[in-house]
Amino acid sequence: MLEQAQKVLKEHFGHDGFRPNQGELIERLLDRGDALAVMPTGAGKSLVYQIPALVLDGLAIVISPLISLMKDQVNALNEAGVKAAFLNSSLEPREQAEVLEYAATGACKLLYVAPERLDAPRFVALCKAAKISLVAVDEAHCVSQWGQDFRPSYLGIASFIESLPERPAVCALTATATPEVQRDILGALRLVDPLVLVSGFDRPNLYFGVERPEPKAKRTCLLRLVRERKDQVGIVYCSTRAAVEEVCELLCENGVAATRYHAGLSASERHANQEDFLYDRRSVMVATNAFGMGIDKSNVSFVIHYTMPSDIESYYQEAGRAGRDGSPADCLLIYNKKDVQTCQFLIDKSFEERSADEPVEASRILYERDCERLRQMVFYCTTTDCLRSFILQYFGQVETAFRCEHCSNCSTDFEVEDVTLEAQKIISCVLRLAQRNRQAGKALIVDILRGSKAERVLAQGYDSLSTYGIMDTVPAKRVRYVLDALVSEGMLVQTGGSYPVVEATEQGAAFLRDRQTFEIKVPKRLPKEEELAKSAALRGLKPSGANSSDPELFEKLKAVRFRLASEAGVPAYIVFANATLADMCEKQPATEEELLAVSGVGQVKAERYGAAFIEAIREHKAG
Ligand code: ADP
Repeated sequence: MLEQAQKVLKEHFGHDGFRPNQGELIERLLDRGDALAVMPTGAGKSLVYQIPALVLDGLAIVISPLISLMKDQVNALNEAGVKAAFLNSSLEPREQAEVLEYAATGACKLLYVAPERLDAPRFVALCKAAKISLVAVDEAHCVSQWGQDFRPSYLGIASFIESLPERPAVCALTATATPEVQRDILGALRLVDPLVLVSGFDRPNLYFGVERPEPKAKRTCLLRLVRERKDQVGIVYCSTRAAVEEVCELLCENGVAATRYHAGLSASERHANQEDFLYDRRSVMVATNAFGMGIDKSNVSFVIHYTMPSDIESYYQEAGRAGRDGSPADCLLIYNKKDVQTCQFLIDKSFEERSADEPVEASRILYERDCERLRQMVFYCTTTDCLRSFILQYFGQVETAFRCEHCSNCSTDFEVEDVTLEAQKIISCVLRLAQRNRQAGKALIVDILRGSKAERVLAQGYDSLSTYGIMDTVPAKRVRYVLDALVSEGMLVQTGGSYPVVEATEQGAAFLRDRQTFEIKVPKRLPKEEELAKSAALRGLKPSGANSSDPELFEKLKAVRFRLASEAGVPAYIVFANATLADMCEKQPATEEELLAVSGVGQVKAERYGAAFIEAIREHKAG
């Protein structure tokens, strides 16, 4: 049966082989067993159930919480010649009845439904009368009450499955990797002896970068990053609606075809803007994190975070919307210290406003967990070690640090600088404050060390400390840099919620006592021109086609794709992914048979669209 699955993979989806874990999971479902697939965004979860749905007899039910995604997936399947439909509240009652009738004929292979549908009498009647080949539960972490996206209606899935006359194979899929969530999924869906496979979280095609501009230079930094990616498709995430408005305006004023998305817009405007982005009429989407769940656009070449998210889980999920088709893509984060305070403020607020019936112990555990997650996020933004290594260690995927050579830290030449004396001064200042039973935040410590005459320094008598003014010739930014490094190294620690104060740890005290040395890594200053050339090369700068062997042909093929997509009324990436166009540039097929050898070209699409691409390639070769 796996052979048949291979054949479907090639014929309908145009791929030559399975990605890691896909084959094993598919085999299990074909044997009518249960499975849980934990795969990062873009790893290819959909094929895990779509292929068995095509090979097995009967109708596959796909439960998905995301209405926008259903339409998109069904569109893509129909384009590949697969009979699929969806049923949700976006359809008129008459359309819903038509879908049910169509599904009952036995012609339809996959039916996507929202979880709320599972107790609708007409739907249940259909499922009892039809032969159900398998049930796929997409975004299965929604069943976990610990997760961020808990959907109560997911709790009804297990009894729905058990109410069917014959129990079908059940496949749960998620991108959330924590063990608690996995346990919840297995339990709440009552999977029977499931095959659980967790795929590697590394996404080698993604470049990770952190930018740390001065707060005032944030806008210029963003503009530069977007301009460097001219003509590429990207998402800019901001944390508030106001920031979305401001950034979208900034980009539009500067000639970028941007649009926006946030919960404050009317449903119709949100929908229109999303379509503009999906259909490539607007190349940059500026959005809050309300945008993206279920956005399956495969040709997103960059995701920029204009504000720092509150944890690595959210960051990796949002950033992971770049490069889903495997083409090179950039995930960049603009770090600003103020974002840390905002995140902490929100965490504190949600703790203070917790519901009265929640046991305080449980809330406190969640609160501490959120604070720790935020600390890890800040470490990601401030570390000088490999960013990819940091992420994979965070997710428990690798145990020891490594260098990926494909992130902004691996690409920056750092030089080691001995800052022992400065470190001693800073730690002494913290200890002197402690002797007076006083504690201060980072900014105040910098002020004291630099001999500031600010009210908050003088009023407390801090000018009488022996460490007052001992760094008066050092720029504030530099003092702060060393102070941050001492915190990352565990010599100092920040405690407290909204107004964190700094304390010395045992390690910090030992550092002074034992006269240890302290070194930091600072970016090496390069001559201006060299620096520019290097940053361009390292940030993976490329026009969207430059990763193809023939950028000119790539642009021509994109134009053909755009025309065909407009004619068919589907987004361009549904016709072919960027990775497929790049492979076409490489192989330059002259016949339909040769075209079928291109990755991502299946039988149906070759017949439907092949001629136009072959013609464009022929003309290009003729020059
Ligand atoms: P996920 O749901 O895990 O985020 P998708 O199912 O949307 O990922 O797949 C992401 C991309 O990977 C799609 O463009 C898909 O065509 C491609 N893909 C999936 N499986 C394979 C494969 N075996 N070979 C090549 N490309 C694949």
